Amino acid sequence: MTKRIFKNTMLIILLVLVLCGVFIIGVLYKYYNSEITDEMYNEISFISAGVETEGMDYLNNLDDVKIRITWVDKDGTVLFDNQADVSTMDNHRDREEIKAALASSTGKSVRYSYTLSEKQVYHAKRLSDGTIIRISFVQNSIWKIMFGMIQPLLIIVILAIAVGGALAYRLSRQIIEPLDNINLDNPADTEVYEEMAPFVRKIVHQNQQIKDTVAALKAQKEEFTLITENMQEGFIVIDKSAVVLSHNTSALKLFGVSHRAEQKSVLVLNRTKEFETGVKLALEGRHNERAITIGEKVCNIYLNPVFDKEKVAGAIIVVTDVTEKEKREHLRREFSANVSHELKTPLTSISGIAEIIKTGIVESKDVPEFAGKIHKEASRLITLVEDIIKVSQLDEADSAVEKEKVNLYELCREVVEQLEPVAKLKDVSLSVMGNDMVIMGVKPIIREMIFNLCDNAIKYNKPQGQVNIKVDLDNNRRSFVEVKDTGIGIALDQQDRIFERFYRVDKSHSKEIGGTGLGLSIVKHGAILHSADIAVESELDHGTNIRVTF
Ligand code: ADP
Repeated sequence: MTKRIFKNTMLIILLVLVLCGVFIIGVLYKYYNSEITDEMYNEISFISAGVETEGMDYLNNLDDVKIRITWVDKDGTVLFDNQADVSTMDNHRDREEIKAALASSTGKSVRYSYTLSEKQVYHAKRLSDGTIIRISFVQNSIWKIMFGMIQPLLIIVILAIAVGGALAYRLSRQIIEPLDNINLDNPADTEVYEEMAPFVRKIVHQNQQIKDTVAALKAQKEEFTLITENMQEGFIVIDKSAVVLSHNTSALKLFGVSHRAEQKSVLVLNRTKEFETGVKLALEGRHNERAITIGEKVCNIYLNPVFDKEKVAGAIIVVTDVTEKEKREHLRREFSANVSHELKTPLTSISGIAEIIKTGIVESKDVPEFAGKIHKEASRLITLVEDIIKVSQLDEADSAVEKEKVNLYELCREVVEQLEPVAKLKDVSLSVMGNDMVIMGVKPIIREMIFNLCDNAIKYNKPQGQVNIKVDLDNNRRSFVEVKDTGIGIALDQQDRIFERFYRVDKSHSKEIGGTGLGLSIVKHGAILHSADIAVESELDHGTNIRVTF
Protein backbone atom coordinates (compact mmCIF):
# COMPACT_ATOMS: atom_id res chain seq x y z
CA MET A 1 0.00 0.00 0.00
CA THR A 2 2.80 2.42 0.95
CA LYS A 3 4.50 1.59 -2.34
CA ARG A 4 1.32 2.21 -4.29
CA ILE A 5 0.64 5.58 -2.71
CA PHE A 6 4.28 6.53 -3.24
CA LYS A 7 4.20 5.39 -6.88
CA ASN A 8 0.96 7.21 -7.65
CA THR A 9 2.13 10.42 -5.97
CA MET A 10 5.37 10.25 -7.96
CA LEU A 11 3.40 9.72 -11.16
CA ILE A 12 1.28 12.79 -10.40
CA ILE A 13 4.43 14.82 -9.69
CA LEU A 14 6.00 13.68 -12.97
CA LEU A 15 2.82 14.44 -14.88
CA VAL A 16 2.61 17.92 -13.37
CA LEU A 17 6.28 18.50 -14.17
CA VAL A 18 5.86 17.36 -17.77
CA LEU A 19 2.76 19.52 -18.24
CA CYS A 20 4.51 22.52 -16.65
CA GLY A 21 7.57 21.90 -18.86
CA VAL A 22 5.49 21.74 -22.02
CA PHE A 23 3.57 24.84 -21.00
CA ILE A 24 6.69 26.81 -20.10
CA ILE A 25 8.46 25.76 -23.32
CA GLY A 26 5.38 26.72 -25.32
CA VAL A 27 5.15 30.15 -23.69
CA LEU A 28 8.89 30.70 -24.08
CA TYR A 29 8.77 29.58 -27.69
CA LYS A 30 6.05 32.06 -28.44
CA TYR A 31 7.90 34.80 -26.60
CA TYR A 32 11.18 34.17 -28.42
CA ASN A 33 9.41 33.93 -31.72
CA SER A 34 7.83 37.35 -31.36
CA GLU A 35 11.12 38.75 -30.00
CA ILE A 36 12.99 37.43 -33.04
CA THR A 37 10.32 38.71 -35.43
CA ASP A 38 10.58 42.15 -33.80
CA GLU A 39 14.33 42.00 -33.95
CA MET A 40 14.28 40.97 -37.60
CA TYR A 41 11.86 43.73 -38.40
CA ASN A 42 14.21 46.25 -36.76
CA GLU A 43 17.15 44.63 -38.45
CA ILE A 44 15.62 44.71 -41.95
CA SER A 45 14.47 48.33 -41.47
CA PHE A 46 17.97 49.27 -40.38
CA ILE A 47 19.68 47.43 -43.29
CA SER A 48 17.14 48.79 -45.80
CA ALA A 49 17.91 52.32 -44.64
CA GLY A 50 21.66 51.59 -45.04
CA VAL A 51 21.28 50.16 -48.56
CA GLU A 52 18.94 53.01 -49.57
CA THR A 53 21.67 55.51 -48.74
CA GLU A 54 24.93 53.66 -49.37
CA GLY A 55 23.99 50.86 -51.75
CA MET A 56 26.37 47.90 -52.14
CA ASP A 57 29.06 49.64 -50.07
CA TYR A 58 26.92 49.43 -47.02
CA LEU A 59 26.47 45.72 -47.46
CA ASN A 60 30.13 45.09 -48.22
CA ASN A 61 31.17 46.92 -45.10
CA LEU A 62 29.01 44.93 -42.82
CA ASP A 63 30.97 42.47 -40.80
CA ASP A 64 30.30 40.19 -37.91
CA VAL A 65 26.70 39.77 -38.97
CA LYS A 66 25.07 36.55 -37.77
CA ILE A 67 22.03 36.69 -39.95
CA ARG A 68 21.96 36.13 -43.68
CA ILE A 69 21.40 39.19 -45.86
CA THR A 70 20.43 38.92 -49.51
CA TRP A 71 19.85 41.80 -51.93
CA VAL A 72 17.68 40.89 -54.89
CA ASP A 73 17.08 42.93 -57.97
CA LYS A 74 13.53 43.69 -59.03
CA ASP A 75 13.86 41.01 -61.78
CA GLY A 76 14.86 38.39 -59.20
CA THR A 77 18.62 38.42 -59.84
CA VAL A 78 20.58 38.07 -56.60
CA LEU A 79 22.86 41.13 -56.24
CA PHE A 80 24.37 40.30 -52.87
CA ASP A 81 24.41 37.50 -50.32
CA ASN A 82 26.68 37.49 -47.29
CA GLN A 83 26.60 33.69 -46.81
CA ALA A 84 26.51 32.37 -50.41
CA ASP A 85 28.24 32.83 -53.71
CA VAL A 86 25.97 35.14 -55.77
CA SER A 87 27.20 33.69 -59.08
CA THR A 88 25.90 30.26 -58.17
CA MET A 89 22.49 31.47 -57.00
CA ASP A 90 19.53 31.21 -59.30
CA ASN A 91 16.83 33.76 -59.90
CA HIS A 92 14.86 34.52 -56.66
CA ARG A 93 11.81 36.05 -58.28
CA ASP A 94 9.66 33.06 -57.51
CA ARG A 95 10.61 32.97 -53.80
CA GLU A 96 7.49 33.44 -51.74
CA GLU A 97 8.79 36.31 -49.58
CA ILE A 98 10.24 38.07 -52.67
CA LYS A 99 6.99 37.73 -54.52
CA ALA A 100 5.10 39.13 -51.55
CA ALA A 101 7.54 42.01 -51.09
CA LEU A 102 7.33 42.92 -54.79
CA ALA A 103 3.61 42.91 -54.50
CA SER A 104 3.11 44.61 -51.14
CA SER A 105 6.49 45.98 -49.94
CA THR A 106 7.10 43.29 -47.26
CA GLY A 107 7.07 39.50 -47.32
CA LYS A 108 7.73 36.63 -45.01
CA SER A 109 8.12 32.91 -45.40
CA VAL A 110 9.48 29.88 -43.64
CA ARG A 111 10.94 27.19 -45.85
CA TYR A 112 13.87 25.01 -46.65
CA SER A 113 16.75 26.83 -48.23
CA TYR A 114 18.32 24.83 -51.04
CA THR A 115 21.20 27.29 -51.04
CA LEU A 116 22.05 26.76 -47.35
CA SER A 117 20.40 23.40 -46.97
CA GLU A 118 18.64 24.55 -43.78
CA LYS A 119 15.16 25.54 -42.74
CA GLN A 120 15.10 29.32 -42.82
CA VAL A 121 12.78 32.13 -41.75
CA TYR A 122 12.79 34.85 -44.39
CA HIS A 123 11.81 38.51 -44.11
CA ALA A 124 11.86 40.68 -47.27
CA LYS A 125 11.37 44.41 -47.77
CA ARG A 126 11.06 46.34 -51.02
CA LEU A 127 13.32 49.38 -51.29
CA SER A 128 12.28 52.60 -53.01
CA ASP A 129 14.15 51.55 -56.20
CA GLY A 130 12.13 48.31 -56.41
CA THR A 131 14.99 46.05 -55.28
CA ILE A 132 14.41 43.75 -52.34
CA ILE A 133 16.40 43.37 -49.12
CA ARG A 134 15.89 39.99 -47.54
CA ILE A 135 17.17 38.73 -44.26
CA SER A 136 16.92 35.22 -42.98
CA PHE A 137 17.99 33.09 -40.09
CA VAL A 138 17.91 29.48 -39.28
CA GLN A 139 14.68 28.52 -37.59
CA ASN A 140 16.59 26.04 -35.49
CA SER A 141 18.06 28.88 -33.63
CA ILE A 142 14.83 29.18 -31.64
CA TRP A 143 15.10 25.50 -30.75
CA LYS A 144 18.73 25.99 -29.90
CA ILE A 145 17.75 28.65 -27.43
CA MET A 146 15.09 26.37 -26.09
CA PHE A 147 17.60 23.51 -25.96
CA GLY A 148 19.88 25.69 -23.93
CA MET A 149 17.12 26.01 -21.39
CA ILE A 150 16.68 22.31 -21.04
CA GLN A 151 19.68 21.92 -18.76
CA PRO A 152 18.42 24.26 -16.02
CA LEU A 153 14.97 22.86 -16.57
CA LEU A 154 16.30 19.35 -16.04
CA ILE A 155 18.01 20.40 -12.82
CA ILE A 156 14.72 21.88 -11.66
CA VAL A 157 12.89 18.67 -12.66
CA ILE A 158 15.41 16.44 -10.83
CA LEU A 159 15.24 18.64 -7.76
CA ALA A 160 11.44 18.64 -7.93
CA ILE A 161 11.42 14.83 -8.28
CA ALA A 162 13.78 14.44 -5.31
CA VAL A 163 11.78 16.78 -3.08
CA GLY A 164 8.50 15.35 -4.40
CA GLY A 165 9.77 11.82 -3.78
CA ALA A 166 10.73 12.58 -0.20
CA LEU A 167 7.39 14.25 0.43
CA ALA A 168 5.48 11.43 -1.28
CA TYR A 169 7.30 8.90 0.87
CA ARG A 170 6.50 10.84 4.03
CA LEU A 171 2.89 11.28 3.00
CA SER A 172 2.42 7.61 2.17
CA ARG A 173 3.97 6.63 5.53
CA GLN A 174 1.68 9.05 7.31
CA ILE A 175 -1.36 7.54 5.59
CA ILE A 176 -0.34 3.93 6.07
CA GLU A 177 1.19 3.98 9.54
CA PRO A 178 -2.15 4.22 11.42
CA LEU A 179 -3.48 1.46 9.15
CA ASP A 180 -0.48 -0.73 9.97
CA ASN A 181 -0.84 -0.08 13.67
CA ILE A 182 -4.56 -0.73 13.77
CA ASN A 183 -5.49 -3.28 16.45
CA LEU A 184 -7.89 -5.52 14.56
CA ASP A 185 -9.13 -7.19 17.74
CA ASN A 186 -9.96 -3.87 19.25
CA PRO A 187 -9.92 -1.26 16.47
CA ALA A 188 -11.70 1.34 18.60
CA ASP A 189 -8.54 1.62 20.75
CA THR A 190 -6.34 2.67 17.84
CA GLU A 191 -5.56 6.36 17.32
CA VAL A 192 -6.42 7.23 13.75
CA TYR A 193 -6.81 10.36 11.66
CA GLU A 194 -10.25 11.73 11.02
CA GLU A 195 -10.74 10.25 7.55
CA MET A 196 -10.06 6.79 8.88
CA ALA A 197 -12.79 6.91 11.52
CA PRO A 198 -15.57 5.50 9.25
CA PHE A 199 -13.20 2.73 8.18
CA VAL A 200 -12.48 1.84 11.82
CA ARG A 201 -16.21 1.93 12.62
CA LYS A 202 -16.81 -0.48 9.74
CA ILE A 203 -14.11 -2.84 11.06
CA VAL A 204 -15.66 -2.73 14.55
CA HIS A 205 -19.07 -3.51 13.04
CA GLN A 206 -17.69 -6.30 10.86
CA ASN A 207 -15.70 -7.73 13.79
CA GLN A 208 -18.94 -7.98 15.72
CA GLN A 209 -20.67 -9.60 12.75
CA ILE A 210 -17.82 -12.13 12.38
CA LYS A 211 -17.92 -12.89 16.13
CA ASP A 212 -21.69 -13.43 15.99
CA THR A 213 -21.43 -15.64 12.91
CA VAL A 214 -18.56 -17.68 14.39
CA ALA A 215 -20.53 -18.11 17.64
CA ALA A 216 -23.62 -19.22 15.71
CA LEU A 217 -21.58 -21.64 13.61
CA LYS A 218 -19.85 -22.98 16.71
CA ALA A 219 -23.19 -23.51 18.45
CA GLN A 220 -24.52 -25.24 15.33
CA LYS A 221 -21.43 -27.45 15.12
CA GLU A 222 -21.64 -28.34 18.81
CA GLU A 223 -25.31 -29.17 18.44
CA PHE A 224 -24.54 -31.31 15.39
CA THR A 225 -21.64 -33.05 17.19
CA LEU A 226 -23.81 -33.61 20.26
CA ILE A 227 -26.51 -35.23 18.18
CA THR A 228 -24.20 -37.36 16.04
CA GLU A 229 -21.93 -38.35 18.92
CA ASN A 230 -24.91 -39.63 20.88
CA MET A 231 -26.11 -41.68 17.96
CA GLN A 232 -25.54 -45.40 18.15
CA GLU A 233 -25.50 -45.47 14.38
CA GLY A 234 -22.31 -44.64 12.57
CA PHE A 235 -22.55 -41.39 10.62
CA ILE A 236 -20.11 -40.38 7.87
CA VAL A 237 -20.19 -37.42 5.48
CA ILE A 238 -18.04 -37.71 2.37
CA ASP A 239 -17.34 -35.34 -0.51
CA LYS A 240 -17.67 -36.19 -4.19
CA SER A 241 -14.19 -37.74 -4.21
CA ALA A 242 -15.16 -40.08 -1.34
CA VAL A 243 -12.98 -38.16 1.11
CA VAL A 244 -14.35 -38.18 4.68
CA LEU A 245 -15.45 -34.70 5.75
CA SER A 246 -16.87 -35.66 9.10
CA HIS A 247 -17.87 -38.70 11.12
CA ASN A 248 -18.96 -39.64 14.60
CA THR A 249 -17.26 -41.94 17.08
CA SER A 250 -19.83 -44.71 16.53
CA ALA A 251 -18.73 -44.95 12.88
CA LEU A 252 -15.14 -45.62 13.98
CA LYS A 253 -16.33 -48.20 16.51
CA LEU A 254 -18.50 -49.98 13.98
CA PHE A 255 -15.73 -50.06 11.38
CA GLY A 256 -13.26 -51.13 14.07
CA VAL A 257 -10.93 -48.21 13.36
CA SER A 258 -9.03 -46.49 16.17
CA HIS A 259 -7.90 -43.27 14.45
CA ARG A 260 -10.05 -40.46 13.17
CA ALA A 261 -10.56 -40.63 9.42
CA GLU A 262 -11.20 -37.04 8.30
CA GLN A 263 -9.49 -36.09 5.02
CA LYS A 264 -8.90 -39.75 4.16
CA SER A 265 -10.73 -41.85 1.61
CA VAL A 266 -13.79 -43.51 3.14
CA LEU A 267 -12.74 -46.75 1.42
CA VAL A 268 -9.89 -47.00 3.93
CA LEU A 269 -12.53 -47.77 6.59
CA ASN A 270 -13.73 -50.89 4.84
CA ARG A 271 -11.99 -52.51 1.92
CA THR A 272 -14.78 -54.85 0.83
CA LYS A 273 -16.02 -54.76 -2.77
CA GLU A 274 -19.57 -54.44 -1.42
CA PHE A 275 -18.78 -51.20 0.43
CA GLU A 276 -16.84 -49.80 -2.53
CA THR A 277 -19.78 -50.48 -4.86
CA GLY A 278 -22.19 -48.82 -2.42
CA VAL A 279 -20.02 -45.68 -2.22
CA LYS A 280 -19.63 -45.60 -6.00
CA LEU A 281 -23.40 -45.84 -6.55
CA ALA A 282 -24.10 -43.12 -3.97
CA LEU A 283 -21.60 -40.79 -5.66
CA GLU A 284 -23.40 -41.50 -8.94
CA GLY A 285 -26.53 -40.16 -7.25
CA ARG A 286 -28.19 -43.48 -6.38
CA HIS A 287 -29.46 -44.26 -2.88
CA ASN A 288 -28.57 -47.80 -1.88
CA GLU A 289 -28.54 -50.07 1.14
CA ARG A 290 -26.42 -53.12 1.76
CA ALA A 291 -25.31 -55.44 4.52
CA ILE A 292 -21.62 -55.94 5.13
CA THR A 293 -19.68 -58.01 7.61
CA ILE A 294 -17.10 -56.19 9.68
CA GLY A 295 -15.15 -58.71 11.74
CA GLU A 296 -17.83 -60.56 13.68
CA LYS A 297 -20.37 -57.81 13.23
CA VAL A 298 -23.07 -57.61 10.62
CA CYS A 299 -23.80 -54.00 9.67
CA ASN A 300 -26.45 -52.44 7.50
CA ILE A 301 -25.15 -49.53 5.46
CA TYR A 302 -27.41 -46.83 4.04
CA LEU A 303 -25.75 -44.64 1.42
CA ASN A 304 -27.54 -41.44 0.42
CA PRO A 305 -26.23 -39.05 -2.21
CA VAL A 306 -26.20 -35.32 -1.38
CA PHE A 307 -27.06 -32.99 -4.25
CA ASP A 308 -26.01 -29.40 -4.80
CA LYS A 309 -27.79 -27.77 -7.76
CA GLU A 310 -28.64 -31.17 -9.21
CA LYS A 311 -25.00 -32.30 -9.06
CA VAL A 312 -23.75 -34.87 -6.57
CA ALA A 313 -21.71 -32.99 -3.97
CA GLY A 314 -21.04 -35.99 -1.75
CA ALA A 315 -22.88 -38.60 0.29
CA ILE A 316 -24.06 -39.41 3.79
CA ILE A 317 -23.40 -42.90 5.06
CA VAL A 318 -25.32 -44.31 8.01
CA VAL A 319 -24.10 -47.58 9.52
CA THR A 320 -26.15 -49.66 11.94
CA ASP A 321 -25.05 -52.74 13.83
CA VAL A 322 -27.61 -55.45 13.13
CA THR A 323 -25.58 -58.32 14.61
CA GLU A 324 -28.00 -58.77 17.52
CA LYS A 325 -31.01 -58.45 15.28
CA GLU A 326 -29.53 -60.97 12.88
CA LYS A 327 -28.73 -63.31 15.78
CA ARG A 328 -32.24 -62.98 17.17
CA GLU A 329 -33.64 -63.55 13.73
CA HIS A 330 -31.47 -66.64 13.39
CA LEU A 331 -32.52 -67.91 16.84
CA ARG A 332 -36.15 -67.30 16.07
CA ARG A 333 -35.88 -69.29 12.84
CA GLU A 334 -34.01 -72.04 14.65
CA PHE A 335 -36.56 -71.99 17.48
CA SER A 336 -39.46 -72.35 15.07
CA ALA A 337 -37.73 -75.24 13.34
CA ASN A 338 -36.95 -76.88 16.71
CA VAL A 339 -40.47 -76.35 18.03
CA SER A 340 -41.94 -77.99 14.96
CA HIS A 341 -39.56 -80.88 15.31
CA GLU A 342 -40.14 -81.31 19.06
CA LEU A 343 -43.91 -81.19 18.62
CA LYS A 344 -43.84 -83.58 15.73
CA THR A 345 -42.05 -86.39 17.62
CA PRO A 346 -44.70 -87.02 20.34
CA LEU A 347 -47.54 -86.32 17.90
CA THR A 348 -46.17 -88.94 15.50
CA SER A 349 -46.04 -91.47 18.38
CA ILE A 350 -49.60 -90.62 19.46
CA SER A 351 -50.86 -90.82 15.88
CA GLY A 352 -49.05 -94.15 15.29
CA ILE A 353 -50.44 -95.78 18.46
CA ALA A 354 -53.94 -94.50 17.72
CA GLU A 355 -53.74 -95.96 14.25
CA ILE A 356 -52.74 -99.40 15.60
CA ILE A 357 -55.70 -99.33 18.04
CA LYS A 358 -57.98 -98.27 15.19
CA THR A 359 -57.03 -101.29 13.06
CA GLY A 360 -58.31 -103.52 15.91
CA ILE A 361 -55.24 -105.69 16.03
CA VAL A 362 -54.54 -104.60 19.62
CA GLU A 363 -55.97 -107.00 22.10
CA SER A 364 -58.14 -105.49 24.81
CA LYS A 365 -55.67 -106.46 27.53
CA ASP A 366 -52.97 -104.39 25.77
CA VAL A 367 -55.15 -101.32 25.36
CA PRO A 368 -54.25 -99.84 28.81
CA GLU A 369 -50.57 -100.09 27.90
CA PHE A 370 -51.12 -98.32 24.57
CA ALA A 371 -53.35 -95.75 26.28
CA GLY A 372 -50.54 -95.21 28.85
CA LYS A 373 -48.09 -94.51 26.01
CA ILE A 374 -50.50 -92.05 24.46
CA HIS A 375 -50.90 -90.39 27.87
CA LYS A 376 -47.14 -90.19 28.34
CA GLU A 377 -46.60 -88.62 24.91
CA ALA A 378 -49.53 -86.24 25.44
CA SER A 379 -48.07 -85.19 28.84
CA ARG A 380 -44.75 -84.63 27.14
CA LEU A 381 -46.52 -82.48 24.58
CA ILE A 382 -48.28 -80.48 27.30
CA THR A 383 -44.99 -79.90 29.16
CA LEU A 384 -43.35 -78.90 25.92
CA VAL A 385 -46.09 -76.45 25.00
CA GLU A 386 -46.02 -75.05 28.55
CA ASP A 387 -42.26 -74.55 28.32
CA ILE A 388 -42.57 -72.93 24.89
CA ILE A 389 -45.15 -70.56 26.30
CA LYS A 390 -42.85 -69.74 29.24
CA VAL A 391 -39.88 -69.06 26.94
CA SER A 392 -42.04 -66.89 24.70
CA GLN A 393 -43.34 -64.97 27.71
CA LEU A 394 -39.82 -64.44 28.96
CA ASP A 395 -38.82 -63.23 25.49
CA GLU A 396 -41.54 -60.62 25.59
CA ALA A 397 -41.03 -59.58 29.22
CA ASP A 398 -38.87 -56.59 29.98
CA SER A 399 -37.14 -55.48 33.15
CA ALA A 400 -39.98 -53.07 33.91
CA VAL A 401 -42.27 -56.00 34.78
CA GLU A 402 -43.77 -55.67 38.25
CA LYS A 403 -41.61 -57.21 40.98
CA GLU A 404 -42.34 -58.26 44.55
CA LYS A 405 -40.43 -59.39 47.61
CA VAL A 406 -39.29 -62.97 47.10
CA ASN A 407 -37.74 -65.13 49.82
CA LEU A 408 -35.32 -67.34 47.91
CA TYR A 409 -34.85 -69.79 50.76
CA GLU A 410 -38.61 -70.30 51.13
CA LEU A 411 -38.98 -70.85 47.39
CA CYS A 412 -36.20 -73.45 47.40
CA ARG A 413 -37.93 -75.33 50.23
CA GLU A 414 -41.22 -75.32 48.29
CA VAL A 415 -39.51 -76.64 45.13
CA VAL A 416 -37.68 -79.36 47.08
CA GLU A 417 -40.97 -80.44 48.65
CA GLN A 418 -42.52 -80.61 45.19
CA LEU A 419 -39.63 -82.62 43.73
CA GLU A 420 -39.17 -84.95 46.70
CA PRO A 421 -41.26 -87.82 45.10
CA VAL A 422 -39.33 -87.57 41.82
CA ALA A 423 -36.01 -87.60 43.70
CA LYS A 424 -37.08 -90.62 45.66
CA LEU A 425 -37.90 -92.49 42.46
CA LYS A 426 -34.41 -91.74 41.18
CA ASP A 427 -32.85 -92.58 44.54
CA VAL A 428 -31.47 -89.07 44.93
CA SER A 429 -31.46 -87.15 48.20
CA LEU A 430 -32.31 -83.44 48.37
CA SER A 431 -31.19 -80.86 50.92
CA VAL A 432 -31.59 -77.11 51.34
CA MET A 433 -29.32 -75.00 53.52
CA GLY A 434 -28.54 -71.33 54.03
CA ASN A 435 -30.53 -68.28 55.14
CA ASP A 436 -33.63 -66.33 54.28
CA MET A 437 -32.64 -64.11 51.40
CA VAL A 438 -35.27 -61.64 50.24
CA ILE A 439 -34.90 -60.04 46.85
CA MET A 440 -37.19 -58.07 44.54
CA GLY A 441 -38.28 -60.31 41.71
CA VAL A 442 -40.99 -62.05 39.74
CA LYS A 443 -41.90 -64.98 42.00
CA PRO A 444 -43.29 -67.45 39.40
CA ILE A 445 -40.26 -66.98 37.20
CA ILE A 446 -37.74 -67.42 40.04
CA ARG A 447 -39.66 -70.50 41.18
CA GLU A 448 -39.47 -71.88 37.64
CA MET A 449 -35.71 -71.16 37.52
CA ILE A 450 -35.07 -73.00 40.84
CA PHE A 451 -37.39 -75.82 39.81
CA ASN A 452 -35.57 -76.35 36.49
CA LEU A 453 -32.13 -76.32 38.15
CA CYS A 454 -33.24 -78.83 40.81
CA ASP A 455 -35.13 -80.95 38.28
CA ASN A 456 -31.99 -81.19 36.12
CA ALA A 457 -29.84 -81.96 39.18
CA ILE A 458 -32.12 -84.92 39.90
CA LYS A 459 -32.55 -86.00 36.24
CA TYR A 460 -28.86 -86.01 35.44
CA ASN A 461 -27.82 -87.61 38.72
CA LYS A 462 -26.74 -91.10 39.58
CA PRO A 463 -28.49 -93.54 41.91
CA GLN A 464 -27.81 -92.60 45.52
CA GLY A 465 -26.72 -89.21 44.35
CA GLN A 466 -27.22 -85.95 46.17
CA VAL A 467 -28.59 -82.55 45.37
CA ASN A 468 -27.58 -79.73 47.72
CA ILE A 469 -29.28 -76.39 47.43
CA LYS A 470 -27.70 -73.40 49.10
CA VAL A 471 -29.17 -69.91 49.57
CA ASP A 472 -26.88 -67.20 50.98
CA LEU A 473 -24.96 -63.93 50.49
CA ASP A 474 -21.70 -63.99 48.55
CA ASN A 475 -18.59 -61.90 49.27
CA ASN A 476 -20.09 -58.99 47.37
CA ARG A 477 -23.19 -59.20 49.56
CA ARG A 478 -25.31 -60.47 46.70
CA SER A 479 -27.93 -63.17 47.27
CA PHE A 480 -27.43 -66.42 45.42
CA VAL A 481 -29.08 -69.80 44.90
CA GLU A 482 -26.68 -72.66 44.24
CA VAL A 483 -27.75 -76.12 43.06
CA LYS A 484 -25.02 -78.71 43.40
CA ASP A 485 -25.38 -82.31 42.34
CA THR A 486 -23.21 -85.40 42.24
CA GLY A 487 -24.46 -86.39 38.80
CA ILE A 488 -23.02 -87.12 35.36
CA GLY A 489 -21.49 -83.64 34.90
CA ILE A 490 -21.15 -81.61 31.73
CA ALA A 491 -18.05 -81.51 29.50
CA LEU A 492 -16.29 -78.12 29.44
CA ASP A 493 -17.01 -77.48 25.76
CA GLN A 494 -20.74 -78.06 26.34
CA GLN A 495 -21.11 -75.81 29.35
CA ASP A 496 -21.81 -72.67 27.30
CA ARG A 497 -24.26 -74.39 24.97
CA ILE A 498 -26.59 -75.94 27.59
CA PHE A 499 -28.44 -72.60 27.87
CA GLU A 500 -29.38 -72.64 24.18
CA ARG A 501 -32.97 -73.53 23.36
CA PHE A 502 -33.56 -77.23 22.76
CA TYR A 503 -29.89 -78.00 23.31
CA ARG A 504 -29.23 -81.31 24.96
CA VAL A 505 -25.82 -82.80 25.66
CA ASP A 506 -26.97 -86.37 25.15
CA LYS A 507 -29.65 -86.31 22.47
CA SER A 508 -30.06 -90.07 22.27
CA HIS A 509 -31.20 -90.45 25.88
CA SER A 510 -33.28 -87.30 26.04
CA LYS A 511 -36.48 -89.15 25.42
CA GLU A 512 -36.10 -91.59 28.29
CA ILE A 513 -34.74 -88.92 30.66
CA GLY A 514 -37.52 -86.56 29.64
CA GLY A 515 -37.21 -82.81 29.51
CA THR A 516 -37.89 -80.40 26.75
CA GLY A 517 -34.45 -78.88 26.21
CA LEU A 518 -35.91 -75.54 27.32
CA GLY A 519 -35.30 -75.75 31.09
CA LEU A 520 -31.94 -73.92 31.19
CA SER A 521 -33.07 -71.50 28.51
CA ILE A 522 -35.85 -70.45 30.90
CA VAL A 523 -33.21 -70.12 33.67
CA LYS A 524 -31.05 -67.93 31.41
CA HIS A 525 -33.89 -65.60 30.38
CA GLY A 526 -35.15 -65.43 33.96
CA ALA A 527 -31.65 -64.40 35.04
CA ILE A 528 -31.50 -61.70 32.34
CA LEU A 529 -34.86 -60.36 33.53
CA HIS A 530 -33.52 -60.14 37.09
CA SER A 531 -30.03 -58.91 36.04
CA ALA A 532 -28.65 -62.03 37.69
CA ASP A 533 -25.41 -63.83 36.78
CA ILE A 534 -25.14 -67.57 36.13
CA ALA A 535 -21.97 -69.49 36.88
CA VAL A 536 -21.48 -73.17 35.91
CA GLU A 537 -18.89 -75.43 37.42
CA SER A 538 -19.00 -79.01 36.30
CA GLU A 539 -16.83 -82.06 36.00
CA LEU A 540 -17.76 -85.08 33.95
CA ASP A 541 -18.86 -88.00 36.17
CA HIS A 542 -18.45 -85.94 39.33
CA GLY A 543 -21.29 -83.50 39.24
CA THR A 544 -22.46 -80.03 38.41
CA ASN A 545 -22.76 -76.82 40.40
CA ILE A 546 -24.87 -74.00 38.97
CA ARG A 547 -25.05 -70.73 40.87
CA VAL A 548 -27.46 -67.88 40.12
CA THR A 549 -26.41 -64.63 41.79
CA PHE A 550 -29.11 -61.99 42.03
P1 ADP B 1 -33.65 -80.62 29.39
O1 ADP B 1 -35.09 -80.35 29.40
O2 ADP B 1 -33.20 -81.53 28.32
O3 ADP B 1 -33.13 -80.95 30.72
P2 ADP B 1 -32.29 -78.16 29.83
O4 ADP B 1 -32.31 -76.91 29.07
O5 ADP B 1 -32.78 -78.10 31.21
O6 ADP B 1 -33.04 -79.24 28.98
O7 ADP B 1 -30.83 -78.68 29.86
C1 ADP B 1 -30.08 -78.73 28.67
C2 ADP B 1 -29.09 -79.86 28.72
O8 ADP B 1 -28.06 -79.58 29.67
C3 ADP B 1 -29.66 -81.14 29.19
O9 ADP B 1 -30.22 -81.86 28.12
C4 ADP B 1 -28.46 -81.82 29.75
O10 ADP B 1 -27.76 -82.52 28.76
C5 ADP B 1 -27.61 -80.72 30.28
N1 ADP B 1 -27.76 -80.54 31.77
C6 ADP B 1 -28.52 -79.63 32.36
N2 ADP B 1 -28.38 -79.72 33.71
C7 ADP B 1 -27.50 -80.67 33.95
C8 ADP B 1 -26.92 -81.21 35.13
N3 ADP B 1 -27.24 -80.79 36.35
N4 ADP B 1 -26.01 -82.24 35.00
C9 ADP B 1 -25.67 -82.67 33.77
N5 ADP B 1 -26.18 -82.21 32.62
C10 ADP B 1 -27.09 -81.20 32.70
